[in-house]
Amino acid sequence: MKKIWLYGNWKMNMIPSEAEEYCKKLLDALKKEPGAYSKENLEICLFPPFISLPAVLASISKAGMVRAGVQDGYFEDSGAFTGEVSLKMAASAGASAALAGHSERRHIFGEENEIVAKKLHKALQIGLTGVLCFGETLAQREAGETMAVVDEQLRSAFEGLDGTEGKGLILAYEPVWAIGTGKNATPSDAQEVCAHARRLAARKFGEGDYIPVLYGGSVKESNARELLSQKDIDGALVGGASLKADSFLAIYEAFRKGFEA
Ligand code: PEP
Repeated sequence: MKKIWLYGNWKMNMIPSEAEEYCKKLLDALKKEPGAYSKENLEICLFPPFISLPAVLASISKAGMVRAGVQDGYFEDSGAFTGEVSLKMAASAGASAALAGHSERRHIFGEENEIVAKKLHKALQIGLTGVLCFGETLAQREAGETMAVVDEQLRSAFEGLDGTEGKGLILAYEPVWAIGTGKNATPSDAQEVCAHARRLAARKFGEGDYIPVLYGGSVKESNARELLSQKDIDGALVGGASLKADSFLAIYEAFRKGFEA
């Protein structure tokens, strides 16, 4: 059975006490069936809002199996950037991963490819796992522009990285129209884009370091098995269904049980 990356983006949800309770439930569930949840077959990373990062880190620190990252972070280390938290600060607080270019950052907060690239590069340079989110809007898909849009997002994010910086990189294909809408990409459409992203990454960084490719966009228990079974989909970046420990873990369970069946 292949390894699955199960990454949970909590967005702007969960105060520290809720985060603590969530982690307890998640860890209890993982402990219940220890054989099913080994580091070899599952990597879980939670992306809480900054305010709840310490609570998550304190709750998961003993478990080893669960990591925590940030949903965003500024590329400058410190200075006059009111309201921002730097990636360096996030790393020193214990985060081990950072999302870059989530569609809500791109579309609500106006982050262009250039800013996304700076954030991704900074994350990788300071040793965080950098999760590059990319994907087309519905209008772009309907206009047949998906591959061109994805190419441009990936090309601009890769530019300026050298061949060694692929280590620590994760790609997350998240079609904008599928995020939070309940409409997921078909497994074959998701596979096609993920395979393309994998080829572009291999061309840039070589075949040496494995760069996982995730799919995100309305992943839930009922569609997980088919999506995660695709050859070039290594895992899921999950928003809504990650907000409850049981529905989050059910995504992996659907895949595992399907594989064992
Ligand atoms: C996300 O926020 O990255 C996401 C994929 O959200 P959802 O699973 O709710 O579509």
